[in-house]
Amino acid sequence: MSEKVTLNCAGCAKTQTLRPRKVEKCDRYFCGHCDFRPPLAPEGQVSSVTNGAAGGFRGYRHETPDAEMLAALGRARVLRDAGLKRIGALN
Ligand SMILES: [Zn+2]
Repeated sequence: MSEKVTLNCAGCAKTQTLRPRKVEKCDRYFCGHCDFRPPLAPEGQVSSVTNGAAGGFRGYRHETPDAEMLAALGRARVLRDAGLKRIGALN
């Protein structure tokens, strides 16, 4: 018999019970069906959300981006801005 952990949604009363090895380490977990939205990351950090971090729950964590992540964010901004420009949302 293996032990299980029960996680609470950060925004409502829902819980998720599962084996610890099925849980991806995050700051907090939320069900995705209530009003909870992850808070903005503090200055200098980025927020990442993992779908299915713990069964049906999502998880978020705030982390300091490394060089690789900063480069990926830079590429994503270029794509976003190109898309916004295309639909006329950016001048
Ligand atoms: Zn919830």
